[in-house]
Formats: sequence, C-alpha cells, structure tokens
Amino acid sequence: MELKKQVWILMVAVISIIVFNTIYSQVLSNENPVLNSDNNSESNTMKKTDSEWKRILSSAEYHILREKGTERAFTGKYDGHFTDGNYLCAGCGNKLFESETKYRSGCGWPAFYEALPESVQETKDKSHGMKRTEITCSKCDGHLGHVFNDGPNPTGLRYCINSVSMDFEPSDKE
Ligand SMILES: [Zn+2]
Repeated sequence: MELKKQVWILMVAVISIIVFNTIYSQVLSNENPVLNSDNNSESNTMKKTDSEWKRILSSAEYHILREKGTERAFTGKYDGHFTDGNYLCAGCGNKLFESETKYRSGCGWPAFYEALPESVQETKDKSHGMKRTEITCSKCDGHLGHVFNDGPNPTGLRYCINSVSMDFEPSDKE
C-alpha cells in the first residue's frame, strides 16, 4: 500500500511538471512576438554605450562623433573630395548626403547644401560662445558638424561636416 501511494505521488508530480512546462512554453512563445516588435520599433535608431562606441570607432571618430570634437580645417579627407556617391555616417552607416549636393565652400570642411530627408537632426548649440545649429545623425546621435544659413541655392544652407564623421560610398552606376 505504501509503495503504491509513493508511485501515485510521483506520477502526479511528473504530470504537473509536464503541464507546467507546456503552459510556460506557451507563455514564452506568446511573449516572443512582443519582444520582436519592440526590437523592430527601435531598429531605426542605434544606441550604444560609450564603451561599445570606443570598441567600434577609431579614437578620432570617437572624439568627433561621441565627444562632439571638430577636425582641423582643411585636413579632412573629404574636404576636396568630389566623386559621385553617397556620404554615410561613420558611426552607423546611415546615408546622410549625396555628392550632388556637395560644393566648394572654402570653409575647410566638407560642405553640402542639403541633407537627405530625416537623416540628420538639428540642435541649438551655444558652446564656445557661438550660437550655432548642431547636426547629428538621426540614427546613432553621432555628432557630424553644424548647419549655417550662408549656403548656396536652392536651400541657402551650408552643412559643414567633419570628414571623420563620414564614410564615402562611390556610386557604381555611372
Ligand atoms: Zn549614425
């Protein structure tokens, strides 16, 4: 009799574990789509910690993109660079500018009269005793440069951007 009771208790225990696992796995599978949709809604942005950025970026890129530094005038690799293609964010690859909108401003940094729609964000910047408008990448918040109102037609804008903040992707269609 005693043995039968023990077997019975053991069976109940095994069955409850199986039932519990089934319910639990269903709960998990219901939660997964929610987790995935959360990830999708954030796929437009790319947030990383400082130490993650330090690992990915060169020290010059980190200084300008993450610490809002500025490369010395007339030293950037894209200042006098006029080849057909696209300029991408050096931090995240976000497409920022097209070569057709790049012009010779003479200011010492790559200059564009237009940014691609929704590729950059503007923020008022009062640092260094100046009233400027800072330009950051809309995807990773990386510092790119500033925008001024002394640009050419058709926009009258001058996006003054650090070469270090950008990568160039030549267009191979032509
Ligand atoms: Zn970016």
